[in-house]
Amino acid sequence: MNTTTATNKNLTAEEVQTILQAQRDYFASNATKDLTFRKKKLEQLKQMMIDHEVAIMDALHKDLRKHEFEAYATEVGFVLADINKALKNLKSWAKPRKVKTPPFHYVASSYTKSDPYGNVLIIAPWNYPVQLLLAPLVGAIVAGNTAILKPSEYALHTSNLLTKLVNETFDAQYIKMIEGAVPETELLLNEKFDFIFFTGSTNVGKIVYQAAAKQLTPVALELGGKSPCIVDTDIHLDYTAKRIVWGKFINVGQTCIAPDYLLVDQKIKDALVAKMKFYMKEFFGENPKDSEALGRIINEGHFDRLSTYLEHGDVIVGGQTDREEKYIAPTLMENVDLEKGIMQDEIFGPILPIIEYGNLRDAIDFVNSKSKPLALYIFSKNDKKIDRILDETSAGGVCINDTLMHMANGHLPFGGVGDSGIGAYHGKHSFDLFSHQKAVLHRSFLIEEPIRYAPYKFSLKIIKKIMDWAL
Ligand code: NAD
Repeated sequence: MNTTTATNKNLTAEEVQTILQAQRDYFASNATKDLTFRKKKLEQLKQMMIDHEVAIMDALHKDLRKHEFEAYATEVGFVLADINKALKNLKSWAKPRKVKTPPFHYVASSYTKSDPYGNVLIIAPWNYPVQLLLAPLVGAIVAGNTAILKPSEYALHTSNLLTKLVNETFDAQYIKMIEGAVPETELLLNEKFDFIFFTGSTNVGKIVYQAAAKQLTPVALELGGKSPCIVDTDIHLDYTAKRIVWGKFINVGQTCIAPDYLLVDQKIKDALVAKMKFYMKEFFGENPKDSEALGRIINEGHFDRLSTYLEHGDVIVGGQTDREEKYIAPTLMENVDLEKGIMQDEIFGPILPIIEYGNLRDAIDFVNSKSKPLALYIFSKNDKKIDRILDETSAGGVCINDTLMHMANGHLPFGGVGDSGIGAYHGKHSFDLFSHQKAVLHRSFLIEEPIRYAPYKFSLKIIKKIMDWAL
């Protein structure tokens, strides 16, 4: 049970409005746009993470029993790497980007200028409660915005700690963290922000999108879904099994891009399952419950939801549970009922259904019968098959012959498509996402062309010719 509570229960609309108005005034002062200021704030965020690394990892352990290796690699270290990249590249990212100017405009130059949106709202989930709150914040800072942060109410130790740290590190008029659950989020969503960055479920994403639409606020929605993993016969069996087991059971499967289900060529299924069982034992031992490397389910509600999935097919390995400890063993399943929750909803836990396919067409059709996923995994050495899957399916991102690792490449945009989200971030993509690309055409007073002005002495024929040539 979580013993902590959110620090600002009974938040009122007036309090939210006061904070937001202060942030609007601060943004209007132009202070946040200065590149040196942005760098300084990134440095402060970095120092905050470094100074409190141990406390942050401890809070993550309390909330999710995250092993320190996972806590560093996927949370603290991930954010630090994002900050370092932003510090290194801020100047070049912020430079105006020149574009061509057709001769018709002579004499002129054209460029896009990255403008901060202004006052940003960031809403985060509980599964990577540091990374998914602070990586978007890096984007907001580097692009020159102010921000209000709303962490998840489920990872309360982390939420309490980060709220304290963030609110001590930054002035409220610049960055303010507000804890709370649905009512507090609703209060925030009632206000007019200039940009909303939401990470969470598809269902809540729709609520956020509707609230944003009322104010015509642009959004990034980083949502979830069922990420398929297609396994061909032409693979390195050992690495395939190892990489799938790792990607599925890290953070006990509570990862938005975890492989949700396997689609395996029936010819290789038994061999793959045998290898996966081997690696599950290698990683988590004979009794995974005793393994320090395996975390826990966030709360009883999610534990109960996941437990019912164990009845939606046959357990190959795993299946043990302990509600008191919120423990579910890493589990492989087969013969799952495609109409039941396990194959209708995002699993978001340590249960991996394995579905066989006879030919690739069936596997592709199966993927396409579901909503567009956040991630899609392909294991194959056959380039033709890889290209076919890439061409014939849609997903936020694709990782070939590995799991999760596409997200760890900060040069790639990370985000969904369709039901799995709108907008993408990380590295420079975060800078772009949190900026409006202002189009600028800069003309000179050097010459004046008479063609466009009334009373339109030039014939339509001439203007057609000029436009044809010049645009
Ligand atoms: P969630 O949608 O329940 O909650 C996310 C945030 O929304 C929380 O801060 C919560 O307080 C708030 N919220 C919840 N209900 C609300 C409501 N009715 N009105 C307003 N705000 C509300 O998601 P979660 O359970 O915290 O996280 C799990 C989901 O997030 C999964 O679907 C997962 O795939 C997805 N996710 C996506 C990414 C990504 O990067 N695309 C990353 C992590 C998690």
